Amino acid sequence: MGRYTGPSCRLCRREGIKLMLRGARCETAKCAMERQWRSYPPGQHNWRRSRGSEYGMRLREKQKVKRYYGVFEKQFMKYFHHAERTKGNTGSALLSLLERRLDNVIYKLGLAPSRAAARQTVSHGHVHVNGRCVSVPSYRVRVGDRFTIKGSERSQKLIRSCLEELGEPHVQNWLTLDMTTLAGEVVALPTRDDVMIPVEEQLIVELCSQ
Ligand code: SF4
Repeated sequence: MGRYTGPSCRLCRREGIKLMLRGARCETAKCAMERQWRSYPPGQHNWRRSRGSEYGMRLREKQKVKRYYGVFEKQFMKYFHHAERTKGNTGSALLSLLERRLDNVIYKLGLAPSRAAARQTVSHGHVHVNGRCVSVPSYRVRVGDRFTIKGSERSQKLIRSCLEELGEPHVQNWLTLDMTTLAGEVVALPTRDDVMIPVEEQLIVELCSQ
């Protein structure tokens, strides 16, 4: 299970959008994308770069999504091939599949400050799905799945301190969260409108279909 361990803000600067990879810091003035002298792409001589080719534009859209959800190429292509076999729009299906990852759901419920932190929360066994411990961040949630936090003092303390720090989360319509019991549920499948990242998914489909 690979994961990116380099500087997160560099990825946002490369893609030119806020990927929200560093939790609370992303909402503050310390965010590199909020500082004019840091919001340009990384690397030397970036001012010489042109707008890029059509291939380059498509590649950037794909990289944006991969970095947003924290998945690498091989896993991303598995999602893409699954989306191709799904009825309807392939781009929307791809985003919906990625949105259904367990680490993303934990982040969306406000139980972790970032997707990377949510991934760690899941892999450390703090999350139960339908009463059973699930430590696989890529677990794909279904309608009716119920999430709870492990009953141990350590797990409860970890999640409650996170909620205290982040404040009450704005939970999207396809999810519910009971703040008292820290129990959540998937009540519908996510649609394209539930995906917050500004991306042209059609460009990704064109790139990956070649
Ligand atoms: Fe991206 Fe800003 Fe968060 Fe850094 S602080 S990861 S630049 S959104």
